[in-house]
Amino acid sequence: MAEFVEGWFLGHTLGEGAYGEVKLVINKTTGEAVAMKMIDLQKHPDAKQNIKKEATVHRMLSNPNIIRYYGQRSEATMEYIFLEYASGGELFDRIEPDIGMPLWEAQKYFKQLISAIEYLHGHGVAHRDLKPENLLLDDQDNLKVSDFGMATVYRLQGRERLLEKRCGTLPYVAPEVLQGLYHAEPADIWSCGIILVALLSGELPWDEANPQCVEYIAWREARYMSLTPWKKLDTIPLGLIRNILTHAPTSRYKIADIKHHRWYMQNLRKDDSEDCVDGGRVKSLRYDDEDITRLGLSQPEFPDTENQSLHINADERPGFSFSQPAALEDLFLSTQPVQNTQTSQNTFQRLVRRMTRFFVKTDYEETVRRLVKSLKEQNYICRSNDIGIITVYTVDRRKSPLVFKAIILEMDGQILVDFRLSKGCGLEFKRCFIRIKERLDSVIFKGSVTWPVGVKTKTMP
Ligand code: ATP
Ligand code: MG
Repeated sequence: MAEFVEGWFLGHTLGEGAYGEVKLVINKTTGEAVAMKMIDLQKHPDAKQNIKKEATVHRMLSNPNIIRYYGQRSEATMEYIFLEYASGGELFDRIEPDIGMPLWEAQKYFKQLISAIEYLHGHGVAHRDLKPENLLLDDQDNLKVSDFGMATVYRLQGRERLLEKRCGTLPYVAPEVLQGLYHAEPADIWSCGIILVALLSGELPWDEANPQCVEYIAWREARYMSLTPWKKLDTIPLGLIRNILTHAPTSRYKIADIKHHRWYMQNLRKDDSEDCVDGGRVKSLRYDDEDITRLGLSQPEFPDTENQSLHINADERPGFSFSQPAALEDLFLSTQPVQNTQTSQNTFQRLVRRMTRFFVKTDYEETVRRLVKSLKEQNYICRSNDIGIITVYTVDRRKSPLVFKAIILEMDGQILVDFRLSKGCGLEFKRCFIRIKERLDSVIFKGSVTWPVGVKTKTMP
């Protein structure tokens, strides 16, 4: 395993962002993990200012439902941001396309989201890119708002300024943001409403909340009861959504209204709601200890990184006064990274739960061959490189580009095929994944998508 700076190993890629990758870095001695967002300034010369702003805003924040900012490191052509590692992956991965998730779970995440937004707005910060891909989960499935790349301060010393920048991700963007002059708070709240629809139905209601979009027109004119996703929703959560996805920002629910809504206050219990929401399928999102035993996989042992949120909660000051990984300063302070690629004897494994992956019975070469063949039969354009990464290009239902990667890894002596979205709609990506998986069914270990897996960082030769 390559060493990033002395004492810290470079782990696997956690995700891809607009400006580069996010990687795991692991402390050699303690096993503690930190997420490292990397920005290649040669590829994105315009990114430097953005990163500065992201860091400036993010470092002020300290809340149990917000990813903790640890620090930054600048090199000649690279910028790095170090963040609390969310081992549960993206909330996005808990959404089953066209289904969503059990009511109680959606409610839990929605409440944690609202709590984070209440904190942000209380501090005059707008996020401006709220979507399930930017909501991460920790090892205990607590939601953590992440990605402050679009965030901005809209209220300072009690004075609010109107925002102008059209930013965010189109299906989640409020109508007034598209117009170009807007108040920060209702715009973020709108995105929370779209997220709630996605959690409860596994769908996004429209491409864009603009006056030309037929789905949006139907919603505004209240001609939607027979349409999806609305017809899937119960009247109480639908009532809440109606009040959040209100066209005029001034009549839109505020945080306080949301918190007093009947659905928000309902005591949804795990057992109750699993019966209501297509129990079996939704339940299959959760991992199963039996599956692990069956395959002879053992749960990797690693030092507990502690539930840092408990400490953060007690201390709202920015800085490093809370519990955090040891020797963290080494990541920011030394000026040059260690260049050697020495290999560790230890196999660092981390728990990562992600739905878009499966183990196969075939060996590495056969897996690549079958996968490429199957992708081509499904009319995907794909490009494979020689380190086990296949990039797949297609368009979604709405004809927008969709790009994702299939990464073939050897893990605990098994071959894992891990799919990751690079560009486009995440729900569409997941629909593609399900179709690809169906076609490879005969070689896939059953139940494999849902295991917690220890990911070895070495990619196949
Ligand atoms: P974009 O602008 O495309 O949304 P970005 O460049 O701002 O992306 P992030 O959203 O911060 O990048 O990170 C990209 C992905 O990396 C996330 O969606 C997530 O999957 C993963 N990731 C980011 N931060 C963490 C973290 N702290 N722990 C675990 N995974 C993370
Ligand atoms: Mg992001």
